[in-house]
Amino acid sequence: MKKIVTVGEIVVEIMATETDQTFLQPGLWAGPFPSGAPAIFISQVARLGHPCGMISCVGADDFGCLNLERLQRDGVDVSAITISGDRPTGSAFVRYAQDGSRAFVFNIPHSASGQIGINAAAEALLAGADHFHVMGSTLFSKQMIDVVKIGIATIKKHGGTVSFDPNIRKEILDAPGMHAAMDFIFSQTDLFLPSGPELFLFAKSSDELAAVDEILGRGVAAVVVKKGSNGSVYYDRRASVAMPAFVVDEVDPTGAGDCFGAAFVTEWLRGANPAEALRFANAAGARAVMRNGPMEGASSRAEIDAWLVSAKVKPEALA
Ligand code: ATP
Ligand code: MG
Repeated sequence: MKKIVTVGEIVVEIMATETDQTFLQPGLWAGPFPSGAPAIFISQVARLGHPCGMISCVGADDFGCLNLERLQRDGVDVSAITISGDRPTGSAFVRYAQDGSRAFVFNIPHSASGQIGINAAAEALLAGADHFHVMGSTLFSKQMIDVVKIGIATIKKHGGTVSFDPNIRKEILDAPGMHAAMDFIFSQTDLFLPSGPELFLFAKSSDELAAVDEILGRGVAAVVVKKGSNGSVYYDRRASVAMPAFVVDEVDPTGAGDCFGAAFVTEWLRGANPAEALRFANAAGARAVMRNGPMEGASSRAEIDAWLVSAKVKPEALA
């Protein structure tokens, strides 16, 4: 099986317990939960029984311990996750608004995540990998952008593939060099995984089909658009497939895109057809929103297969 590697931030997430809770006055918070978009992604890959590893850095503290133990338990190769001598593990506070939007306070570039680099263990992990996944949220500093570029170059040198989820967080969109880095990574992308409007980040058109044409014309092999409770759509140069979402009670939206992406990439690398891969990934995304906590809704292959037997797709999607 093709080994998947990702790189980036590992954080603890502290979540508001009430809708419209503010960061400006004391409230009740839940956590710490293990988190960080690339960490959620790789946890879900591992839970599917697929070989994978992560390049990252945590602090020598309980938050680092909690994350490392979790990833190890899931089956992630953590040999390239270092422990910082002088910086704490990163953190993200998140609050939810009535309209479903989220706002964050991140401590990432100045945390242990800011010390992520390519050491001998990371080189060894990359040398044994066939696929590299990049999250836009990881491009938070010049150093991280350089690390991502090394990862891509190493994987491409031995014929591997790259997937890219822009995963835009407005809080870090204006980090230095972020826009140029996004463009470069896009130019190296085989599988592009935007969420809703992120599809238009690299296209002039504001029409979905025309934007997809532009993107496929620029060398991307396949595009998968995540549409939350409206499911997902796959496009390549020969075909397109739309797959409705499953009916679930959404408890916490965080992590859906990461779990979806992990499931889709895993199935894509295993040679599943697009419809099968989308259905499986929709199930992974749906199950992610059913649980509180970013990584808590990641499922094993057996759990997803068992759940699919009685899962219902949204009725309006069938109309
Ligand atoms: P994230 O917040 O993790 O970045 P995202 O915006 O990248 O998420 P979404 O489109 O929200 O990704 O979710 C990914 C997939 O998960 C969807 O395409 C869908 O299959 C599933 N999903 C998400 N939310 C729901 C929901 N409320 N009901 C059913 N399925 C959902
Ligand atoms: Mg996302």
